[in-house]
Amino acid sequence: MKLSTTQRANSLEARDVAHILHPYTNAVVHEAEGPLVLAGGDGIHVIDRDGNRYIEGLSGLFCASLGFSESRLVEAAHRQMQTLPFYHSFGGRSHETAIELSERLIALAPVPMSKVFFANSGSEANDTAIKLVWYYHNAIGKPQKKKIISRQRAYHGVTVASASLTGLPYTHKAFDLPLPGILHTDCPSFYHHGLPGETVEAFATRCAESLEALILREGPDTVGAFFAEPLMASGGCIVPPPTYYAKIQAVLRKYDILLIADEVICGFGRLGTMFGTEAFGLEPDMMAMAKQLSAAYQPISALMVNEKIYAAVRDQSGAIGTFGHGFTYGGHPVATAVALETLKIYEERDIVGHVRDIAPGFQSALRALADHPLVGDVRGMGLIGALEVTSDKATKTPFDPSLGVAAHVGKRALAHGVITRAMGDMVHLCPPLIITAAQVSDLVARIGAALDDTLTWVE
Ligand code: PLP
Repeated sequence: MKLSTTQRANSLEARDVAHILHPYTNAVVHEAEGPLVLAGGDGIHVIDRDGNRYIEGLSGLFCASLGFSESRLVEAAHRQMQTLPFYHSFGGRSHETAIELSERLIALAPVPMSKVFFANSGSEANDTAIKLVWYYHNAIGKPQKKKIISRQRAYHGVTVASASLTGLPYTHKAFDLPLPGILHTDCPSFYHHGLPGETVEAFATRCAESLEALILREGPDTVGAFFAEPLMASGGCIVPPPTYYAKIQAVLRKYDILLIADEVICGFGRLGTMFGTEAFGLEPDMMAMAKQLSAAYQPISALMVNEKIYAAVRDQSGAIGTFGHGFTYGGHPVATAVALETLKIYEERDIVGHVRDIAPGFQSALRALADHPLVGDVRGMGLIGALEVTSDKATKTPFDPSLGVAAHVGKRALAHGVITRAMGDMVHLCPPLIITAAQVSDLVARIGAALDDTLTWVE
């Protein structure tokens, strides 16, 4: 359709460019290319305003587990809006859906947990965990034990403290981050950091030794906590070696360091277990969750804390006069009602069982793309995976970043009707958990076509 100059100036695309500062977007490119404006959803598909359908190969942002047209979630929100559209949890106020949701989460916890703190985003949940690490150590009389260790390539959010945990340069560069006292140890990616001739097992040992060396350099009495996303999703879909966490946790126990599991993406079935904590045998003191908690239909996050942490918070708040932390919308009734309904759907439809059934086909179809001339590595677990492009498979040499090869795969995938996410040299896939086996084959075939197009473009 040919638009007049006035129509073009008044288009949604033009109004977007004129008024929205987009997150995680190159503003210069955005001014030139404009947005993709979505208008509707249907199962695993989203539909743009010209009526083009796309498989949402990333569940939005690793979150829309039940797809884009789950009417039960709409009804749950509507019912709650009609009864109690807002209330907060400050000063001991409460309401039924928050209470019921917290009970369900504690019952689902893979390790004993005591209380649930509600917030609105993964970043807020992780910020809360950081503050609790500090609060806890003040409460138990170890005020010097405050440093926190995260990992290179980790993604834990973008608020000042959670962005400091994040181990990706673009979340720090020009933002004057990370905060002092937040440190980064090795990323457990064998593909990127394994040495020639090194076994995966030896690599895991080396990661744990490197963590211990960092703790000793800093002084064990000054290190309070370690943050881990079980499978490092946004950082490159990095699946740590099988013995990695056992070795890491032995070091943490030795120096009395808390473990926080960031379940923001792994939580609620993504890996074929309810939580990544189970998949990797973690024993966290706190667990952060968001995204699939409400299937992304409402913004909500939660931080579960064990009794050890809660007891210290209770005593400290008693001494100070209040627990001085909380968000106006934390535990919002509409968000908790939707999350509760989401958890009911997961249980009724055995969503974890469904992921276990579908995942082997998804993983083997993706791995078949490893033979493609552009693909250096294929990684994944459950219903999450990533392809890493390389200019030389043998040496794993990355393409010149200015070429934007992975980004081109993403563009061609869009042309083939798939939305995915290209970051660095990686193309990420994380489809809605309701995807069927036939849809998996279709999705991966379209990614294969996008790779073929890109190969022609590169050559
Ligand atoms: N933690 C992990 C593992 C994430 O993947 C994300 C977001 O992608 C966050 C935390 C931050 O969540 P939010 O964007 O809701 O603040």
